[in-house]
Amino acid sequence: TAPAPVVPLTHHFAEAVPELALPWRADEAPDPRLLVLNEPLAADLGLAPEWLRTPDGLRLLVGNHVPEGATPVAQAYAGHQFGNYSPRLGDGRALLLGELPHADGRPRDLHLKGSGRTPFARGGDGLAAVGPMLREYVVSEAMHALGIPTTRSLAVVATGTPVHRETVLPGAVLARVASSHLRVGGFQYARATDDVDLLRRLADHAIARHHPAAATAERPYLALFEAVVAAQASLVARWMLVGFIHGVMNTDNTTISGETIDYGPCAFLEAFDPATVYSSIDHGGRYAYGNQPAVAQWNLARLAEALLPLLADDQDEAIALAVEALTAFRAEYDAAWSTGMRAKLGLSADAGPLVDDLLVLLQGDHVDHTSFYRALSHAARGDDEPVRGLFLDLAAVDAWLARWHGLGPDADAMDRVNPVYIPRNHLVEEALAAATDGDLGPLDRLLDAVRSPFVERPGLERFATPAPRDFADAYRTF
Ligand code: AMP
Ligand code: MG
Ligand code: MG
Repeated sequence: TAPAPVVPLTHHFAEAVPELALPWRADEAPDPRLLVLNEPLAADLGLAPEWLRTPDGLRLLVGNHVPEGATPVAQAYAGHQFGNYSPRLGDGRALLLGELPHADGRPRDLHLKGSGRTPFARGGDGLAAVGPMLREYVVSEAMHALGIPTTRSLAVVATGTPVHRETVLPGAVLARVASSHLRVGGFQYARATDDVDLLRRLADHAIARHHPAAATAERPYLALFEAVVAAQASLVARWMLVGFIHGVMNTDNTTISGETIDYGPCAFLEAFDPATVYSSIDHGGRYAYGNQPAVAQWNLARLAEALLPLLADDQDEAIALAVEALTAFRAEYDAAWSTGMRAKLGLSADAGPLVDDLLVLLQGDHVDHTSFYRALSHAARGDDEPVRGLFLDLAAVDAWLARWHGLGPDADAMDRVNPVYIPRNHLVEEALAAATDGDLGPLDRLLDAVRSPFVERPGLERFATPAPRDFADAYRTF
């Protein structure tokens, strides 16, 4: 057989902060079978899709073929989970294989999830089931197609290992690609060691990798923090505009790059309501749709605390600098959100109270967030009926439409920012259930729809339709 191609993995993370990188190996997968492969992404990473489909390629994707010179590691990190601090989380079921060059010139992490227990596994089995890994695949690819910064999914490979949850499920490994896996929780871990040199090496690595302009700023570590604040403000505004609910915004799931990471109990909002929660473990609604901006700022406050020793020699001065930079979050978030709302409404001038009034109407009549904005472009083309059909309070919506028409909305511009197709919760569940039973057809069709979210196509009406009300009301992701 042909020799395995060279996979030019580098290990800049492990070299910069070996204290946060535990060399480790994946469990042996007894029967690897490819479920889904992202061929364009593979090609961008210099990995030939034909080779990834071979037995050796599949072994790479589950961590059993370790390319020459490569050292997979489990990453150490801490984190606040639902507000409670855990000093030692780390990759309990994941491995960083290393970094690979991407066609765009910026390196990417190649990371495996579900590859077996690590020293951070605590009580966990180290495994992942086919359904949740395919869920991450489809939702992350949908987010990418929506233009929202996110980790990507390269492949899901069934392992042949059974996973014991409420029932016995087939196991799988997700190969995940990210501009890095640096997270707020990594800085919390480094800070808790009291080793300021480690903290500085981690910050220098983050600057080099994500925010290189900070290196030449007057205060590089403050500039790093400001850059992360800006990236997260922009990210969470994008989530809000598209109706994405992350579901588990713990500090270990908050990236330094500003990419969305860790698709667990996430879901897309259907009926517009800021209090919406789909995760059954989120009893207090901490991570409800409308709380996401405040939670992101809270998580960034934890990053600021971790960075304090690097911000200034004087503690009071460090705190003052951190608070000022953290305060900027709200204005940056508001600006990103307002600009985005103006675009969703097809307007070139500031929409002001029109937006607030709209949100009250949407919430009052339980209007489907995604359908509304596409119906509204029909109104911009002269037909108000699709919008009117979504509301009970017609007098109120007619009055709102009259004000909005007066501002001269641009229908084509609206259709470029408002998706027709999102991974609707009932369709995701249907696709995962079929895939778990061995039928990948529904997943393929869902992926086809969400990969071109803005282009309405005949025959895909189901993918543009909200869930039946009884499904939507009872739906829980987790
Ligand atoms: P998450 O809530 O997905 O961000 O995960 C929080 C922590 O739990 C991380 O340390 C994960 O690696 C770990 N973890 C989640 N599921 C498992 C599992 N099945 N086995 C071992 N560790 C896990
Ligand atoms: Mg996580
Ligand atoms: Mg997770």
